[in-house]
Amino acid sequence: MAYVIVTVTFRCPGCDQSNVEQLIAETERFDSEEMARILSRQRFCCQLCSRALPDGTPANAHAELATPDRLEHLGFPFSRPN
Ligand SMILES: [Zn+2]
Repeated sequence: MAYVIVTVTFRCPGCDQSNVEQLIAETERFDSEEMARILSRQRFCCQLCSRALPDGTPANAHAELATPDRLEHLGFPFSRPN
């Protein structure tokens, strides 16, 4: 198992502000197909106006393998919901 950090940037169609969101995903492999799968499961909301992004909102995603330092910086491990 590996952790990847996915940085997603998008512009909210509601308030026209740029958002940057970082996800941490646990994955067995690290390739673009897997990243696309993770992103397709993810729902994004604008951090400024809390509006859910409609389907088809253009977004850019950048994935990188997570290092322990980066995970710690992002506050990982998160408590998992039961
Ligand atoms: Zn917004």
